[in-house]
Amino acid sequence: MAGYVNTVLGKISTDAMGPTLIHEHVNFGFAGWYADSTVAPFERKACLNRVVEVLKEVKESGVRTYIDCTPNDSGRDARFLRDAAQASEMNIVCSTGLYNEAQGGSAYFRFRSALPFTNVTEEIRELFFKEVTEGIENTAIKAGVIKVVIGNESISPYEETVARAAADVSKETGVPIITHTHGGRLAVELADFLISEGANPSQVLIGHVGGTTDVDYHAAVLSRGVYIGFDRFGADMPPEKPDSDNIACILELIRRGYAGRILLSHDFTINMLGRQVAELLANLPDWYPTHVFKNILPTLKAKGVSDEQIAEMTVGNPRRLFEGG
Ligand SMILES: [Zn+2]
Repeated sequence: MAGYVNTVLGKISTDAMGPTLIHEHVNFGFAGWYADSTVAPFERKACLNRVVEVLKEVKESGVRTYIDCTPNDSGRDARFLRDAAQASEMNIVCSTGLYNEAQGGSAYFRFRSALPFTNVTEEIRELFFKEVTEGIENTAIKAGVIKVVIGNESISPYEETVARAAADVSKETGVPIITHTHGGRLAVELADFLISEGANPSQVLIGHVGGTTDVDYHAAVLSRGVYIGFDRFGADMPPEKPDSDNIACILELIRRGYAGRILLSHDFTINMLGRQVAELLANLPDWYPTHVFKNILPTLKAKGVSDEQIAEMTVGNPRRLFEGG
């Protein structure tokens, strides 16, 4: 049963998604980057040119749909994504969502929650709902996924508020939730929380599980009925594990029958907002959004993963996440 996905150029059938990178970024900045914009201004035209160039390469590697998981408070820019999709002919899906309390723009909602007359859960729910059903800012560009991010050591009450609103809007609209966890921790807790708040497990992706090599932990997350993301290929920096460790986990999980619940991506950012990080990227030559399709899929195949299982992880699972199956 085909469903639909909101791309930045409008609604398309899930049949048309094709090979998909489920967790990437076009532009991303840690909240507060704009405070440094005198030194490191956002050069829209140059950034757009670079994005189009990279997305064309990604398209050549076989990808048709690029899910941008950037939360509202990390530099999400729906108009920029629309222009990038038009020029690159890549399907781009835009998020609505909020980053975690420590690294996002939580000050605003913390201020509002201290006011006696506000219900912040309701305000965040209203924001997500409006962006999914009507459009972002003054555009008709609708968010296609809801992003939920938790802390490194705990899920704070603020993060629970965001997750509760996300679960509610996902349940109401059928738009999936894509999450960020850290270091192979709290994924079971997050899955249980979202499900207890009404989210359909088949529309929840627990991201960044490659922060641990403990396959029993991965299986415990999967036992909740959610999808998991090995979605930082090439980003070999702590707490992430090297690609070879992620591949070993995937092989074991496929052996246990979970090919239908695994998603692959890079969590790459084409334009870092604020000052650049060239020195970091120079040490991570494989962290580039063509890596999975050019290098990781052939490696999996050489290790015995079938073409059907590869198609499941790159086409079938992304599609079913949007369809809720
Ligand atoms: Zn990300």
